[in-house]
Amino acid sequence: MKYLSTRDDSLSIEASEAITRGLSREGGLFVPEEFPQYSQEDLRALLPLSYPERAASIMKHFLTEFTYEELLERARAAYSAEKFGSENPIPITTIEENGVPVHVLELWHGPTCAFKDMALQMLPHLLTLSLEKSHPGATALILTATSGDTGKAALEGFRDVPGVRILVFYPQNGVSEMQKLQMITQEGDNVGVCAIEGNFDDAQTGVKRIFTSEKMNTLLEQHHFLFSSANSINWGRLLSQIVYYFSAYLDLVKESRILLGDPINICVPTGNFGNILAAYYAFQMGLPVGRFICASNSNDVLTQFLNEGVYDRKRVFYETISPSMDILISSNLERLLYDLTVTKNVRDWMQKLTKDGVYTVDRDTAMRLHALFYASRATEEETKAEIRRVWEENGYLIDPHTAVGSKVCRDYLEYTGDYDTPILLASTASPYKFASSVLSAIASEEIPEGFEAVRALSRKTNTVIPAPLAALEGKKVRFPDCCRAENMDAVVCSMAGIELP
Ligand SMILES: *Cc1c(COP(=O)(O)O)cnc(C)c1O
Repeated sequence: MKYLSTRDDSLSIEASEAITRGLSREGGLFVPEEFPQYSQEDLRALLPLSYPERAASIMKHFLTEFTYEELLERARAAYSAEKFGSENPIPITTIEENGVPVHVLELWHGPTCAFKDMALQMLPHLLTLSLEKSHPGATALILTATSGDTGKAALEGFRDVPGVRILVFYPQNGVSEMQKLQMITQEGDNVGVCAIEGNFDDAQTGVKRIFTSEKMNTLLEQHHFLFSSANSINWGRLLSQIVYYFSAYLDLVKESRILLGDPINICVPTGNFGNILAAYYAFQMGLPVGRFICASNSNDVLTQFLNEGVYDRKRVFYETISPSMDILISSNLERLLYDLTVTKNVRDWMQKLTKDGVYTVDRDTAMRLHALFYASRATEEETKAEIRRVWEENGYLIDPHTAVGSKVCRDYLEYTGDYDTPILLASTASPYKFASSVLSAIASEEIPEGFEAVRALSRKTNTVIPAPLAALEGKKVRFPDCCRAENMDAVVCSMAGIELP
């Protein structure tokens, strides 16, 4: 299986190279040259398998340089009961909406309580396997700029992985208290965390500058290091996410909730378009899906795009209570467009987006998008009301991101009248990661600060605080440092144990 770039027709590389590099040099994203096809019989064969076995057998089609045994060993380590709390890392809770079963796929039982663990527990294994093939003997230095969830999940995934060091930069005042605490107390001998004076864009721009700096790359090469990335455009992350849509479908069949071959609709609270794209790829491979329901918060650039074919990032940016979806440039959308357009003028659209902040797709592409995707949004008030409603009607607690998805599911049912198809709703974070927002949605009393909010939520709802979050209280701070964006090079060098000349 070879990998192509969305912006360069002449390119064709191995998976190991695509995973090590993350992004193509001309700015394109790597995509597999074809999608393996699963017949109903192939799906049936996956039914009796465990999650790691399903993961290895799906991934082996895309990673032909590695053996099934290698992948299985890595998937077992990544999705162990020790890390995810049970043999099945992705339990499903079913609630009902107007008589339609909504199967809530809880993707947040990993070490950092957000769905990013599903990809970032596996990526280190895929990256180290890839490095052995593509750059034997080198140490990967992973640089990540984060607005919260990715940084922590990457730190946890890569901690103490041999042959890898990881350094995370976050905006000093741009992450939640819980997210900051998760990062600055991170354990592991190969990790580093540093705050940046500035916002997320400053951190992101600084990381990109270092990635492309000739001086820094040469310096690192001389010391047998190589830069790598753990952000959501890395193929290794997407591939890990395709697996859980297959596995969830198979679990619903096993529990007799659906029959093998029945279509389901999949609803995903969306930011960078990675999670919902993985669902689309699963569908391309033969998973029976009716519609994809794309849910946005007030930053509703995707709602407009999927409905009208116009992508317009020139709009007000809102800071919401679902911060991981506060994004105006959904990078992975480029991969969907590459797959859907006949004309393949993705590169032109992306250049327009950079230059003018807006592009319009051709009519044919717009029609295809419309046939596959339903898109809608939830305001802040609607998000809070949804958390309260689901809690009161079902005794089930959801986080603000999941609530955006749940509200948009109801829009979908009302708009389409599609009451015959069950819905799979991706639940992307533990409610405890956003304890004060969740508590303020369901309680009328004053909301306490910090860990008090976490405890109050637990008391009020009689639910258990996830162990990894409970353990943060009173934990030793290892990384109190904050630097200026222009001094990031020095932090990188000290992480690699190199003297800056
Ligand atoms: C990252 C994230 C999202 C958005 O996922 P994308 O793959 O970027 O669309 C949604 N919810 C939570 C909790 C997240 O951390």
